[in-house]
Amino acid sequence: MKLTFVGTLLVCTLAAAGQSDTPPKPSALPIHNSSIVVDTHADTPQRFLDENFDIGNSDPKDVGHISLNKARNGNLGAEFFSIWVEPSFKGQYAHRALDLIDSVYQQAERHPDRMMMAFSVADIERGHQQRKLAALMGIEGGHAIENDLRLLNNFYRLGVRYMTLTWSNTNEWADSSGDVTDPKIEHHNGLTDFGKQVVLEMNRLGMMVDISHVSDKTFYDAVAVSRAPVIASHSCARALSDHPRNMTDDMLRAVTQNNGVVMVNFYSAFVDETYRKAADAQKKDRDAAVDAFVAERKALGKPVSYAEYDQVQRAWAAKIPRPPFKSLIDQFDHIAKIAGVDHVGLGSDFDGVSGATPESIDLPKISQALLDRGYNAGDIRKILGGNLLRVFRDVEKVSHQMQTSASTK
Ligand SMILES: [Zn+2]
Repeated sequence: MKLTFVGTLLVCTLAAAGQSDTPPKPSALPIHNSSIVVDTHADTPQRFLDENFDIGNSDPKDVGHISLNKARNGNLGAEFFSIWVEPSFKGQYAHRALDLIDSVYQQAERHPDRMMMAFSVADIERGHQQRKLAALMGIEGGHAIENDLRLLNNFYRLGVRYMTLTWSNTNEWADSSGDVTDPKIEHHNGLTDFGKQVVLEMNRLGMMVDISHVSDKTFYDAVAVSRAPVIASHSCARALSDHPRNMTDDMLRAVTQNNGVVMVNFYSAFVDETYRKAADAQKKDRDAAVDAFVAERKALGKPVSYAEYDQVQRAWAAKIPRPPFKSLIDQFDHIAKIAGVDHVGLGSDFDGVSGATPESIDLPKISQALLDRGYNAGDIRKILGGNLLRVFRDVEKVSHQMQTSASTK
């Protein structure tokens, strides 16, 4: 007791003299605010399309993660907007994808002073110089190409620069982690021959191969076939949260071999094992409630908007305590330790995780936490965007090589 008192007194005295035991931590803000910050997954296009959300919205009560103001405050330089098509929209996959793509262009056209469409590393760098949010697009789920390489080509022409081979559903050429244990689904033991052609065509076009969501076997097939580095656009480490959609340490090492990058997802159930278990225990009731809500709206002839769906999900998420912010940083740390600091980045899943992120996330805080854990400025810049830009540049190079060697044959 006495010792504690003396200790406290000593600290107070030193602090009063402006020389505390522990020197003030250096701020990461100068590093953060001078970096090109790239995030590879936001589901905002559903908001653009289904609820007419304007990215210029500055309403402080808006529940969304992404707006131009929020991007500016967090120094977000480039966002890959997710073109995700609900698998039940059979026969409408490409059509819906085209509508979502159009919705991103419309936002850029509405805000030319603060936002620009971007299709290359050079475009992202130009956006950074002009202080505009560079908007890119990734298709989430290979079912959107409707088993047609010509559609894949046309999506590239429209600006799509990555494609997640599957979403939670197995498609006709690639298995997903979301249903790989479901015996009712026809599986392929990874990628089919056509699936391998898709990967090579993506390499040729210069579209990044995204292995988030896929089954483990699809992942290993993809890294074996791809001639360019791959990305996991929004994935975490399974060692810290035992979700089948997360990556094992062996998979992380395979990404290192491939010179690719794993972009950390901010969804609590992928980040933190305690939360994952709680969410798992709640899943049956939550799914039933969501289904009942959707059925009720359909019976009334009303479509369910993103905002309504999000509200129901948020109410369920609120029943589970959010993991501490530290859990998210543990993910960055683990992937950097296993795969290397050159192979980790930001893949938030913003606007797709309905309030279920760890506590009080903002992007500069991530940089600060990394600095506090001993990462140097160079490492932090790589994690914030440098690693993704390196992979994107490699993908552009491989595409160029494949196209020139084909034309000289
Ligand atoms: Zn996803």
